[in-house]
Amino acid sequence: MTAQEIRQQFLDFFKDKEHKIVPSAPMVLKNDPTLMFVNAGMVPFKEYFLGQKKVTDSRVADTQKCLRVSGKHNDLEEVGMDTYHHTMFEMLGNWSFGDYFKKEAIAWAWELLTEVYKIDKNSMYVTVFEGDKSENLDFDQDAYDYWKKIVPEDRILNGNKKDNFWEMGAQGPCGPCSEIHVDIRSAEEKAKVDGKTLVNMDHPQVIEIWNLVFMEFNRKADGSLEKLPNQHVDTGMGFERLCMVIQGVQSNYDTDVFTPIIREIETIANSKYNASDKKEDVAIRVIADHIRAVAFAIADGQLPSNNGAGYVIRRILRRAIRYGFTFLNQKDAFIYRLVDVLSKHMSGSFPEIKAQKQLIENVIKEEELSFLRTLDQGLNLLDTIISNNKSPKISGKKVFELKDTYGFPEDLTDLILRENGLSYNEEEFTSELEKQKERGRKATAVETDDWQILIEDDEEEFIGYDTLEATVKITRYRKV
Ligand code: ATP
Ligand code: MG
Ligand code: MG
Ligand code: MG
Repeated sequence: MTAQEIRQQFLDFFKDKEHKIVPSAPMVLKNDPTLMFVNAGMVPFKEYFLGQKKVTDSRVADTQKCLRVSGKHNDLEEVGMDTYHHTMFEMLGNWSFGDYFKKEAIAWAWELLTEVYKIDKNSMYVTVFEGDKSENLDFDQDAYDYWKKIVPEDRILNGNKKDNFWEMGAQGPCGPCSEIHVDIRSAEEKAKVDGKTLVNMDHPQVIEIWNLVFMEFNRKADGSLEKLPNQHVDTGMGFERLCMVIQGVQSNYDTDVFTPIIREIETIANSKYNASDKKEDVAIRVIADHIRAVAFAIADGQLPSNNGAGYVIRRILRRAIRYGFTFLNQKDAFIYRLVDVLSKHMSGSFPEIKAQKQLIENVIKEEELSFLRTLDQGLNLLDTIISNNKSPKISGKKVFELKDTYGFPEDLTDLILRENGLSYNEEEFTSELEKQKERGRKATAVETDDWQILIEDDEEEFIGYDTLEATVKITRYRKV
């Protein structure tokens, strides 16, 4: 089954269960002071749970573009190192706003996985919330009972508050959840462990694919919980992980979500993924992942910049550039050349990539060229600093110098230091930065972004699901 078919079957399945299928909301949030990017499928529906918006469709399903690189959910450092955390990923979700609850959510999830996707029942584990005394929360007996009807008891495991009580943030809707994990170890691998098939859930090859959240509480400002007037369902399934399981591979990067991009990187960099060099493999994964995050962010209106959400995007892109530069010997701009293959494979479901292709390429290329100028010098200098250094903590002054003189950002320095088991004196760095700011205040500084909007217009575009239409925003920029 191709990724495209897997996505479509999810939507078709829930359409058959009377869900309204809606397009993904933009990944970039412009009006939420608590969040810069959508980090879970429920974010665009927040107001329904909070009762701030009237529900028109009580059953909804979609695939939502998510980005987990800042705030509560930040997976950036895992990305490329493991094979199942991404910066940008699709979260498949079905929702009930005051409609069905645990019984249907559990039964349908199992039906979809085992009957439509035909995932081996004996490879799956489910978790239920074990309860929490300090909060007066009970063991989730209902969820346990529904699971017991379809799953052997030794495959139902208890989970604690950290993993199995989902909260939107410090305040807001929350509730216990049930997760579905898939054991992707090979039969030989399983046999090695004394013939036991049951494993500890922290095993790197027992992968969480779907989280079913049963929202029934509201966390109030004073920290206490109150029952919501209605009970809701919020589920989130990692699309790329699901493809990995269904396509029978061991890594998200071996699914057809990523292989076309990886083949293109191999061609450009004259390199081979999964050959022997582990560092090259990490670099290829980092680049294949980051191009998606950056391209979708730009398509959704967030350009790289020196502050806020724009800086998050710039950092992601620079991380990719650095890996290409260091481990694939890419001394010239090359990441922008991947937009073409991305557009070919993603535009069917996400027309914004095709609509904004030229812009995405231009922005990425410009960013690559300007960062490459400073990267070489900065990396050399940092190498010298690392090899001459006697303590595990580098001087903050040196890190500031790298930033100030060579434009080498401290978060990049920090990342490289951490990869070498080092850190730097942050207090010293901050104090240098403050001194510089003081100097800057004297000369009247104006903070500006370096990409300027020329025109903006909205175009209606058909995006594929039956009668649904989405607005694709077309913006033109120029670099200043
Ligand atoms: P994990 O424990 O693997 O980090 P999570 O518990 O943080 O996942 P949830 O917040 O429950 O994830 O999100 C729902 C689903 O989204 C997960 O079950 C998983 O399939 C997927 N998912 C979460 N984070 C990522 C990511 N960084 N990249 C790809 N898929 C992800
Ligand atoms: Mg996580
Ligand atoms: Mg988890
Ligand atoms: Mg989870």
